[in-house]
Amino acid sequence: MTTSKSVTIGNFELFAVEAGRFLLDGGAMFGVVPKTLWSRQIPSDDKNRIPMAMRSLLIKSKKTGKIYLVDTGSGDKFNEKMAGIYGLNYDHSNLLDSLSNVGISPDDVTDIIFSHLHFDHCGGTTTYDDDGNLKEVFPNAVYHVNQQHWETATNPNAREKASFFAENLDPIEKSGRLNLVGDNHEFETGLDTISVNGHTVGQQLPTITSGQTKLIFAADLIPTFAHVPLPWIMGYDMYPVQTLAEKEEFLNQAAENGWYLFMEHDASHEIITVGREKGKFMMKNSLSLNQIS
Ligand SMILES: [Zn+2]
Repeated sequence: MTTSKSVTIGNFELFAVEAGRFLLDGGAMFGVVPKTLWSRQIPSDDKNRIPMAMRSLLIKSKKTGKIYLVDTGSGDKFNEKMAGIYGLNYDHSNLLDSLSNVGISPDDVTDIIFSHLHFDHCGGTTTYDDDGNLKEVFPNAVYHVNQQHWETATNPNAREKASFFAENLDPIEKSGRLNLVGDNHEFETGLDTISVNGHTVGQQLPTITSGQTKLIFAADLIPTFAHVPLPWIMGYDMYPVQTLAEKEEFLNQAAENGWYLFMEHDASHEIITVGREKGKFMMKNSLSLNQIS
């Protein structure tokens, strides 16, 4: 399945572009939540893995003419063993076909905003050419990374190290087009970021705003609909108690103001809204991008 759905919010035309599917350990995805509970929300396979989307967001600015891509999926630089462990599946979708389906060639992309640089968010920025050399996929794009995140990614602790691949980060650094941005950075009017630090230091969530309408690329703050309840936090998070506080503040505002949350990793929900049920945050509505009004 590829998607060609779009919606216009203010000056921006938005497209959901899928960059493939993969599988992650369900226990790791839900931290302290027992399997008896999480498997009712997202069932796992015989290896305890749950299906994950890699859904990027393409943003065309009518005002500046810029074409922004938020995250690039895991890419295809995996050996067979790694591809098997993560169940990487590009038959479902791949980034370049998904972009082509909405009339975008890689050369057209002017800006890539990385939520963060874990491999499933930035690997698609490069590929191997026929001679096995690393090649940039988006040769004209400026790469925007939060400054503190760049410091973490290039000097990781032993626990986070496994998520940062040299073959992903080196070409970004050597491109000459790396732009380090501060917290809550504004790219242009109506397009800025929310900075959060629990999953990894300096994660940024791109946000599109027009009047009362707000859409947030929820990245790994809320990777799937099942991560809306406050304690449902990934085991992968570096600072889960900080995530808890950040989620509470974020979800309070999201529920109050009807924010649309763009799901990067949810295999069956593209956009959700949230509400409270018996005092707990829950998914309220599930919709596709083109159903946003
Ligand atoms: Zn991550």
